[in-house]
Formats: sequence, structure tokens, C-alpha cells
Amino acid sequence: MDSEAVDILIAGGGPVGAALALALEGSGHSVVLAEARSAESGGARSGDSGDARPIALSYASRLILERLHAWSGLPVTPIETIHVSQQGGFGRTLICAADCGLPALGYVASYNELQQCLLAAPCSARRLFGARLTGFDGTTATVRSQDGEFAFAPRLTVFADGARIADDRATPAYRKDYRQSAVVAWVKTAQAHRGRAWERFTPEGPLALLPHAAHYGLVWTTIPDRAARLCALDTPAFLAELHAAFGDRLGAFIEAGERTSFPLALRYQRDETRPRCLSVGNAAQTLHPVAGQGFNLGLRDAWELARLARETRELGSEDFCARYRRARALDRRAGIRFTDSLVGLFSNSNPLLRFGRGAGLLTLDLLPFARRFVARRMIYGARALP
Ligand SMILES: Cc1cc2nc3c(=O)[nH]c(=O)nc-3n(C[C@H](O)[C@H](O)[C@H](O)COP(=O)(O)OP(=O)(O)OC[C@H]3O[C@@H](n4cnc5c(N)ncnc54)[C@H](O)[C@@H]3O)c2cc1C
Repeated sequence: MDSEAVDILIAGGGPVGAALALALEGSGHSVVLAEARSAESGGARSGDSGDARPIALSYASRLILERLHAWSGLPVTPIETIHVSQQGGFGRTLICAADCGLPALGYVASYNELQQCLLAAPCSARRLFGARLTGFDGTTATVRSQDGEFAFAPRLTVFADGARIADDRATPAYRKDYRQSAVVAWVKTAQAHRGRAWERFTPEGPLALLPHAAHYGLVWTTIPDRAARLCALDTPAFLAELHAAFGDRLGAFIEAGERTSFPLALRYQRDETRPRCLSVGNAAQTLHPVAGQGFNLGLRDAWELARLARETRELGSEDFCARYRRARALDRRAGIRFTDSLVGLFSNSNPLLRFGRGAGLLTLDLLPFARRFVARRMIYGARALP
């Protein structure tokens, strides 16, 4: 089979792969994007229920999405305050957008609508749906679709395929199973959300409520057996259990939509040195959803890669790939450490740690500059580090 020459092949058209295709607009490179899902289930059709997980977008992600022309049609709800607390212990803090001089700390969208918006933005890349990358030997990439098998000879292959086939690569990924699953649902409370997000740490994992339209997006992390049970409960029993876990701050939980659960693990590519291929987004690092970092980090991967690609004639060379990996190393490492240490520090019932967490939350509440630092870290990633 003859292979078709192309500058960049993006394998995976999830939100990060789709954003990368947009960020490469005007770069002068020919781009092919191969997405395994069909155009319908990939989110191109409005009204598709698809993956409805809530995604908290940082203010910095908003700025990037605006430049990609994928912001104005996106239904989002601004987060004006974030309330952080721990179950069964003292201490709480309130982080406000005003502390950072920004109109919002972030925005909540649904994965599905984000995906639709990214796919609807003007893009001259050749986008193939229902097209799965089935092989890459370092030079040739094989893509299979309903119309048959295609071979591409890209100067650069970018893996943006989430966590799915990344483990087939030459260097095995680091993997740590959190032994937690996230139960995701849209829920409604008796009280309106007034732009406030809630992050409540429990010994089994964090429980987040993210304001979106008239609802909250719930991301409830717990042990896998309980997650399976929560998904199988009838709605009144689920709402009662949610109320017991979250407490009374929002009054009763009165509605819950369909529930799905996601197993959680930390996975990241380490020491990739091969030329002609790079990983972005979840294919490069899959994080715990605590503090909503994964997509925001992946979007910065895409943005930086497109920036470097614009400046080079040496696409895919060893030097180019090394430059990209160096440019992203600090932000990636910081994102991995930040989320992993939050999980380690908060997901347990050790009384000493509980006391330390309570003292930490109280201190944060008393020190505006510390709250500003935490907020900036969540908004801008490692660039906010001193
Ligand atoms: C419960 C939960 C809540 C989250 N909340 C947040 C949040 O609030 N904020 C945040 O920033 N992040 C959040 N995340 C993380 C975020 O969802 C991911 O970081 C983001 O989806 C990564 O996007 P991606 O495009 O890299 O990967 P994916 O979303 O996994 O997309 C990968 C794409 O590749 C395609 N694909 C797979 N294999 C192939 C193949 N062989 N060939 C072609 N295509 C292929 C798939 O069909 C898919 O479309 C959350 C995650 C979870 C689980």
C-alpha cells in the first residue's frame, strides 16, 4: 500500500486533538486528524447525549478557546467562588474571583458541548471520522475506517488518543491505580448555585459540585464498589446518599440525571525520545479529576505544540520533538504532582492529616495572598509558580 505524505497526523479528535487541529490553522502545514468515533458520536451532531462529564475550564483556557474561535457558541457557567472543605473535620476556605482580579475563576462546560464547539469551528485540516489509528512503526501510520485502510507517512505523528492505545508505545507509561472511581451526573439542589463551585474532600475521595446552567455537574470520587452501587441506586436513594455525603449547605438535592462512572488512575508517558512522534493531552498524561486540571493542561500542550510548529521547518526532527518536550516538562510535572499530592493528602481518614488539612484550610482562609496563589496555580498552571 502506498503511503500518503502529510506534515502532521493527529491520532484522536477528542477535545485536545480537535483543539490542536484548530491551533495549527494558518501554520502552512498539511494536517490530517483521524478520530475513531463517528462524526455523530464524536459530537458533531447537536443534541447527542455523548459524554456529559462536566469540564471546569480555567480562565486561561477561555483565552485560548477564544483564539481558536471555539468559545462564543459554548454554553458555559462562570465560577465566581470555590468553597473547599473536608468531611468530618474542621477548616474551610472560600476562593473568590475578585481575589485574583478576574471576572471568573473558571467556567463549567460539558465535555460533549465542548467537543461539538471545537468541531464546529472553522478548520482546514482534513478530519476523518470513524477512522482509527491501528499501527505506527515510527514512519508509517495506518488508519482503518469503513472505507478501508489508509497509510500515511507524516513528518510528525501526534498521539491525542486519550489513554487508550498509548500503552502500546515503545516506552511503557507510568501507571498508578487510585482505586477510586468518579461518579458523574447532573444534579439539582433546592438552592440556586449563584456561581459557586464546591470541592468537599472525603476519606474516599473528593466530591465536586460544578455550577452549570440550572444544575450542578457532580463529580463524586469514591471506592469502585460504592461507585457501582451509586450508579445502580434509584434516584431518591441516590439523592439521599449524596445529601448525606455532602451535608446541608445546599439544602436538599432534588433531581439527578443519568449516572456514569469513570475508573481513575494516574498515567503518564515518561522519557519519550523518539523523533517524528509526540503525545498531547490525556495520551501524554491522564490525571485524577481533582481540581479539574486534565483538559486545561492538555489544551496548553496543544497550544504550545502549534506555536513551535509554526516556527519550524524541521517538523518531527529529534531537535523539534526534544524542544516541545522541554517546553512542556515543567507544566506537566507540576500538574501531575499537584493532583497526585492532593489525592494523597486528602483521601484518607488519618486523624493527624485531618488536623493538618483543617489547619491548612483555615490558614488559607486567613491569607488572601495564599488564596490568590492557589487560584493562579489552578488558572495558569506552572507559569503561576514563583
Ligand atoms: C470525571 C472526570 C471529570 C473531569 N473534569 C475535568 C475538569 O473539570 N477540567 C479539566 O480540565 N479536565 C477534566 N477532566 C479531564 C478531561 O476530561 C481530559 O483531560 C480530557 O478529556 C482529555 O482530552 P483528550 O482529547 O486528550 O482525550 P480524550 O477526551 O480521551 O479523547 C481522546 C479521543 O481519541 C479518540 N481515539 C482513541 N483511540 C483512537 C485511535 N486509535 N485512533 C483515533 N482516535 C482514537 C477517542 O475516540 C477520543 O475522541 C475530567 C476527567 C474525568 C474522568
